[in-house]
Parts: sequence; C-alpha cells; structure tokens
Amino acid sequence: MIKSIILNGRKIEYNLEYKKVKNINLRIKQDGSVHVSASKRTPVYVIEAFIELKAHLILKAVDNCKTAPPTAHFTEEELKAFVLACCERVYPYYEAKAIEKPQIKFRRMVSKWGCCNTLKKTITFSTLLKYAPKECVEYVIWHEFTHLIVPNHSKAFYLELQKVCPNWKECRKIMKSINIREGT
Ligand SMILES: [Zn+2]
Repeated sequence: MIKSIILNGRKIEYNLEYKKVKNINLRIKQDGSVHVSASKRTPVYVIEAFIELKAHLILKAVDNCKTAPPTAHFTEEELKAFVLACCERVYPYYEAKAIEKPQIKFRRMVSKWGCCNTLKKTITFSTLLKYAPKECVEYVIWHEFTHLIVPNHSKAFYLELQKVCPNWKECRKIMKSINIREGT
C-alpha cells in the first residue's frame, strides 16, 4: 500500500508491503521510489521511526531521480501580495529602530531566496518563493529585514533574527530541501 511520511518537511511517498520478514527492509529503486517491507505485526510508528532514521539517504536518492517540479504554494501574484503584506506587518519593528523603509522588489533568482542591499535600501525576493510554505516565506522576509540591522551572517545577525523569527532554524532546513529547479 502507498503511504506517506514527512521527512525534513517534505512529503515522501513509500510503498509498504507486509511480508513474512524479521526486520524492516528499505529499498530505494533507481527511479527514486521507496519500498518498505515489514512483518504485519510491526506497528506503523516503528516503521516510521525506521524510515526517519534513513531520511538523509531517502531524500538524497529521491532528489537524484527528481524530474517533477516542486509544488507551488502560491501563484506568482499571490506570492507578491503575500510578501508585500508581510513586509508591511514586519516593518514597524524596524521603523522603531529608525531604519528607513526598504523598497521591495521581485526577481526570479535561482541561487537565493532573497537579498538585501543595505546601501540602496532595497530588498529583492525571488519569485521562486512560491514553492515555499507560508511560514518559510515569512522567515525569508525576517531574514532580509534583519540584514538592515546586521548586514552579514555573524552571530549578532542570528541573535537578532532569533528575536523576531524563533523558528528560523526549522524554516532554513525546509528551504534547503526545496528543489527549485523548475520543469521549464
Ligand atoms: Zn542573509
């Protein structure tokens, strides 16, 4: 039967087969499909814990075989509207620190999700953020705005980011797992 599991924030499907086997067996086929066999008596949580242990291996294999583009969480228009609304919501925190309001831009950037030009006072977001879940888009916004206070990725930067976006570590992990290579 086809089942699914969340590994590093990604939904991975696997084919579970109950067999007369002693151990749980995992096989990743050349096409990236994941096959698990276990005895009928093995509880699902044990099977899932086993799969989670192999998450790194599975995600690597799945990525290597990936042909389908990632799922979009927004259309490009929806993404822009969401980002602009978030920026409005986020800015007062920086305004209170006498930081000038940055100009928000969008561009299709493949190698980064956002960039902050502290001299020109512009923040550019990648339109490919449409492939990221909402909370991760918010994380990218906090990340770029934090650069208005600390331009680099020093410890001070992360301390500042932690104040406004406590789940930044999880979000960063999810963002790293998104494959933004598009079909077209
Ligand atoms: Zn940064």
